[in-house]
Amino acid sequence: MRPGIVCGVVALLLIPTAAQSTGEPRQQLTQIILLGTGTPYPDPNASGPATAVVVGKRVFLFDAGAGVMRRMNAARLPISGPEAVFITHLHSDHTLGYPDLILTSWIMRRVSPLPVYGPHGLQRMTRHLLAAFAEDIQIRTHGLEREVPGGYHVKVHEIKVGVVYERDGVRVTAISVSHGSWKEAYGYRIDTPDRSIVISGDTRPSEALVRAARDVDVLVHEVYSPLHLAPEDRPGGKYWPQYMRAFHTSDVELGALAARAKPKLLVLTHIIRFGSSDEDLLAGVRSGGFSGPVRVGKDLNRY
Ligand SMILES: [Zn+2]
Ligand SMILES: [Zn+2]
Repeated sequence: MRPGIVCGVVALLLIPTAAQSTGEPRQQLTQIILLGTGTPYPDPNASGPATAVVVGKRVFLFDAGAGVMRRMNAARLPISGPEAVFITHLHSDHTLGYPDLILTSWIMRRVSPLPVYGPHGLQRMTRHLLAAFAEDIQIRTHGLEREVPGGYHVKVHEIKVGVVYERDGVRVTAISVSHGSWKEAYGYRIDTPDRSIVISGDTRPSEALVRAARDVDVLVHEVYSPLHLAPEDRPGGKYWPQYMRAFHTSDVELGALAARAKPKLLVLTHIIRFGSSDEDLLAGVRSGGFSGPVRVGKDLNRY
């Protein structure tokens, strides 16, 4: 038996444990684990965007940025794949780990199609990824590895706004958000037997998100620091501040929208720092008007 498979079996037997990182009591059935709090910048300490919502032994994955499978394993989540995957939009930073998720979970003994929900275009992306790895799939299936035939299959659901998943007490609702010129970008609200959570995806300040996040237990929201935002010295770089304002949410804007939504906890992720510190980000959120609990998310933090 190969080391990877041993790890897979061990991982399946482990129940996610209490957080080391946030120092808070962990009584809830439902936990949020930040698997990747990064952006396109390849920060060694912040993997590509990915967030797990764990309900008992059930795992729901939101986005699949670069490094997602390694972070899943680091978080002691099953590496044979989550119950369902939800993609917010098709930007590469949110999907570079998607082939990793599909293929690695298969090699780690996934046997049934992976259910994946996301915007239109996801089906085509999935088809192309599987085509790109056709030789790998062929050799792993018919060579001496003898992986489960067809175990790499994906069941893609191209969604629209509303409830997209509801099973055994877990409901996932897609929220349309405004991510610049993307035609389709979603945030998600997750309702479990003990918690309500909203994950923003990538968005500028969104009224739909504020409505969906009203009084939730946890709002996990993207953010950038506007402190050092300036045109960049490159062709097209003069549009950079305009891009950030059309596609993303500043810490001050986040503070303002959180003051209206009133989540019991605000968690910052997909943090575009431009050199700013955690303290700068928190000061921005406070100056926007939010006075409730805030955490600057780090990879593998649990809430
Ligand atoms: Zn994006
Ligand atoms: Zn992004």
